[in-house]
Amino acid sequence: MSFSTRPSDYREVSARTVRSTPSVRASVGSATRAFETARRNALASVEAEAWRDWARDVKTHTLMHLDRYLAEAADRLAERGVHVHWAPEPDDALRVLSEIVEKHGVRSAVKGKSMLAEELEVNEHLEKLGVEPVETDLGEYIIQLLGEPPSHIVGPAIHRSLEDCRILFHEHLGTPLDAAPDDLAAAARAALRSRFLAAELGISGGNFLAADTGTIALIENEGNIRLSTSVPPVHVAFVGIEKVVPRFEDLAGFLQLTARSATGQPIGLYVSLLQGPRSEGEVDGPEEMHVVLVDNGRTRMLADERGWEALRCVRCGACLNSCPVYRQTGGHAYGWTYSGPIGAILSPGLLGLEAAMPLPYASSLCGACVEACPVRIPIPELLVHWRERAVAAGLTPRSEGLGSRALAAVAARPGAYGAAAVALRNTPWRSMARSLPVLNGWVEGREAPTPSPRSFRQQWKEGIE
Ligand code: SF4
Repeated sequence: MSFSTRPSDYREVSARTVRSTPSVRASVGSATRAFETARRNALASVEAEAWRDWARDVKTHTLMHLDRYLAEAADRLAERGVHVHWAPEPDDALRVLSEIVEKHGVRSAVKGKSMLAEELEVNEHLEKLGVEPVETDLGEYIIQLLGEPPSHIVGPAIHRSLEDCRILFHEHLGTPLDAAPDDLAAAARAALRSRFLAAELGISGGNFLAADTGTIALIENEGNIRLSTSVPPVHVAFVGIEKVVPRFEDLAGFLQLTARSATGQPIGLYVSLLQGPRSEGEVDGPEEMHVVLVDNGRTRMLADERGWEALRCVRCGACLNSCPVYRQTGGHAYGWTYSGPIGAILSPGLLGLEAAMPLPYASSLCGACVEACPVRIPIPELLVHWRERAVAAGLTPRSEGLGSRALAAVAARPGAYGAAAVALRNTPWRSMARSLPVLNGWVEGREAPTPSPRSFRQQWKEGIE
């Protein structure tokens, strides 16, 4: 399901979500805190800092030699009978899908969770072709029934409560309104089983692509990706070009680090390593396999002097879980596939800065995300980078630049700073600002604590109590 809002709606949608749907804040808050605790515990038992250095270095090295590793991966895949397609733009990827659908007379497709497929709007395209796409990840299945896009990279239905799911499944699958979570999962499994068997096409993403062997690695916990990629006669994997890593043995480190960072598990319950269609003597696997290597703005992003670092992302969701801003709103407010801190730095690179505004401002720059990121993406620095670009491109209100310059001028003069502090303490500036044309928008979306009656300088002189 594609987004009905855009990044430009961020301020309005986030404010509305916080004001009008406290259940979203409650569901997202409790789920992200649980993920965050699990992540910390899972990384406490390993040499996490050394792993993170290693992962950063491998991903950086690969991105710096992306052409070589992609060519190697494509050659290895082709040698094993995989049809490899290059898709510079979304339309190229969707054209490949159309051809496969036509060639095989596809009417039903099962899908494993794939953020890239969301990015490309694969479901919408399939529906236009007369194909019924069925999401098979439980979270994705829930939001497909709801007609909503995902709210989180790892937990797409994170914004919904157990009660919401009970009502939804009661309406669609006839389960009791007080069904236990296990019973809801069992009902979904029963409903999906026949879909796996009937589907002519299975669709997946790819967490990693090892260049030396042409191996696509997929991590999951439900077994649905394994079924989607092995039961239907045709399998299509959409893989972002940044997902390549040099060696098969690199997968051992990345699979563990990603699972620990995402859900706090030592490794996903199911790990599929796919190297081609079913060969003679094998009992399962598709008869035909396609890998679509998708660019969609990634090479443009790679050329950006700072923005490229976001391409190291392994989509673990840890930065979302740690983000105090994301926790208030969930992912829909961000208006595109990728939300939270990684969304705020990926969207400007992939969509273009103008289309992604004001997402680089959807952060307090507290730095919790960079502490969580397993591949050490300097997210706050990249947010500032995109903000600088936005100012230079004239994409921010002129008043913001004037305000920053005024603040800089005052802060550089101790006398003026002291006088301004006294004025702010002793005047009802918030209510005054509400009646002024530019400042009213600024104070509307922000809270400020009541200033101390004594300034820091006074307290310092008198000795801080
Ligand atoms: S930016 Fe880092 S923490 Fe966030 S999803 Fe990507 S890899 Fe995970």
